[in-house]
Amino acid sequence: MDDSDALAATTSLCPDCLEQVPGQYEERDGGVFLTRECADHGTASRKVWGSFDHWDWAADFGPDPEFDGGDLAVDDDHACLAVVEVTDDCNLSCSYCFASSGPGGAHRSTEEIEALLDTVEDAGGRPIQFSGGEPTVRDDLPALVERARNRGIDHVEVNTNGIRLATETGYAQQLADAGVTAIYLQFDGLTSETYERIREVDLVDEKHAAIDACREADLPVVLVPTVVPDVNDHEMGDIVQFALRNRDIVRSVNFQPVAHFGRYASNDGRFAIDDATRLLAEQIDVLDPRDMLPAPCCSAYCQIGTAFVPEDTDATAAAGCSTEETDGQANCDDTRTDESFVPLTQYVDDQLWDMLSGMVDEGDYMELLAGTAAGEEWACKTAGCCGVDVPGGVEGLFDEVVPVSFTGFMDADAADVNRLSNCCISVPTTDGDLVPFCGYNMTTEDGEYALRNRNDWGGRNAVDGDRPAADSAAGYQGDGTATDGGCVPDDCEGE
Ligand code: SF4
Ligand code: SF4
Repeated sequence: MDDSDALAATTSLCPDCLEQVPGQYEERDGGVFLTRECADHGTASRKVWGSFDHWDWAADFGPDPEFDGGDLAVDDDHACLAVVEVTDDCNLSCSYCFASSGPGGAHRSTEEIEALLDTVEDAGGRPIQFSGGEPTVRDDLPALVERARNRGIDHVEVNTNGIRLATETGYAQQLADAGVTAIYLQFDGLTSETYERIREVDLVDEKHAAIDACREADLPVVLVPTVVPDVNDHEMGDIVQFALRNRDIVRSVNFQPVAHFGRYASNDGRFAIDDATRLLAEQIDVLDPRDMLPAPCCSAYCQIGTAFVPEDTDATAAAGCSTEETDGQANCDDTRTDESFVPLTQYVDDQLWDMLSGMVDEGDYMELLAGTAAGEEWACKTAGCCGVDVPGGVEGLFDEVVPVSFTGFMDADAADVNRLSNCCISVPTTDGDLVPFCGYNMTTEDGEYALRNRNDWGGRNAVDGDRPAADSAAGYQGDGTATDGGCVPDDCEGE
């Protein structure tokens, strides 16, 4: 490796085999590249950050983790969230799916899920997310939620495409009654074309119906857009505005620039989170890219975020949409006039900083967000579950905030073992370990889940290349008439 442009050395992984190899970050063409050399597969150099200036700025937020050479297990007290996979089955067959799931995938046995929950409980009962595949294709999902809650796990969210919530009357309430605390809703945009290109079927109506159902059941929603360049990156600003208008039930937005692990349509290079942030700032007048601050929890390059707050709190009374406002008719509102919102950094700097003086300092910014009611879901994955103590009383000031964050999941192109070693989003194994989410899902260019195989972490070995075609009758067709593996929504009741 030429070290003329070297910024820092790290331990990386070869993208072809995911074996550990020395790597270094390099400044080149205004951006930052990760270069590594594998004895078997040669040199690989991939762009991981769009702007060197931004990379340099972000570094100050730390931490700067260093792999100690041990295993990659996530420390119990550092795991903000544990992702519990309950099935490989799904009623969709998306073009991008880190789990490479689809119709016909296998469910995990109840015994296996109990073993995964044992791992979480032994780690102190960290917040969990039931995921898959599509967890709602399992008719016993509410029972699984109850099992988790009965173990004392207080925060149980469900990662879902929302189809069953949208199409089965009463399902959202069923999940709420079972003890689900939040819905982590796949939400890629507001247009049919976006869903047709990423999910292979138009799901606009289903997304709105799912949010309305959650509103009726008082089930908080986190919007989770997968952002693909030149497909839906132009919709990010609209998604934020949608979240702000519906903040009575939408608690936060977590953008996930597409990472190339699992199944993906094409790998045209990384969509770095600093590039995504600049694009979002172009779409929201009041947002400066550097309002989005790196989380101090895992690595400065894993997650960045801010929170939007109403500029005039008097205006908030008329905001959002609720069953009360609509005479009992839940109605997800896409049309209200935008209010004026500002990123919390600006608001705090200008109006509240003196008031908060002595309670928080600038370095506690993320912790401040963690203490807000609306920030709970998102902050849980950053600073909030890591022992941060937010001063009492601050929360009430920020009931109206909507956190907006970007997570830069690490695929083989960006593989950095130092980052993995300080990961805070974990996957439990049946052997009692919590392992880093990105490591668990990272695939070689041949589609092998190499780290999970090598370390016996469980899950399927390789990407399933035999998914049904987009027009197959095996998946959801967009009209509530066909699903696979679970049951057709509305025919599921009583099963
Ligand atoms: S909804 Fe799409 S991304 Fe999610 S598990 Fe199913 S196929 Fe994968
Ligand atoms: S899941 Fe990936 S991006 Fe998130 S904290 Fe862990 S290593 Fe970082």
